[in-house]
Amino acid sequence: MSRAVLSVGSNIGDRMGHLQGALDALAERVDVIAISGIFETSPVGGPEQDDFLNAVIIVETTLAPHELLELCQQVEADRDRVREVRWGPRTLDVDIIAMDGTVLDDSALTLPHPRAHERAFVCVPWLDVDADAALPQGRIADLGLDPRGVNARPDLSWAQPGG
Ligand code: ATP
Ligand code: CA
Ligand code: CA
Repeated sequence: MSRAVLSVGSNIGDRMGHLQGALDALAERVDVIAISGIFETSPVGGPEQDDFLNAVIIVETTLAPHELLELCQQVEADRDRVREVRWGPRTLDVDIIAMDGTVLDDSALTLPHPRAHERAFVCVPWLDVDADAALPQGRIADLGLDPRGVNARPDLSWAQPGG
């Protein structure tokens, strides 16, 4: 079994519905170990666009890294994800942030995710679910990321997957 850290984000339509849809779909194929709270985040990079909801989901799976990527992309496609502008608005984005200590860089998949360590919208939710989270760049808690623009939404909550 490998343990993987997934980042999910949405800024089009029923954002919480898309995140919940991602959790439900993932839970059918992998073991969900832990889920962060929901955070509302300002967009980083890309065109001017609406705020995101972001969260981190920790899973365990026997899938190989590229199989897990395929699952993430299938889950995105199920929420009608389209790719038009780089870093543009999306119904659902599911990225693999890390998978145990796997280091990998090919045309389809880079692990750990090459931009995760500089993104508060990934790291703040990750810390919410794992205070010891770390990347090759160091412990996430020690990266000194600016948490402005990443706000907890305790009013939003997950439903039990499949429930
Ligand atoms: P970013 O990668 O900066 O977060 P993005 O999520 O908007 O940008 P996408 O259009 O969703 O980018 O994905 C572009 C490609 O990135 C995917 O087709 C996928 O093959 C590749 N990719 C490489 N590494 C990863 C990873 N760790 N997780 C998800 N996708 C990855
Ligand atoms: Ca992304
Ligand atoms: Ca992506």
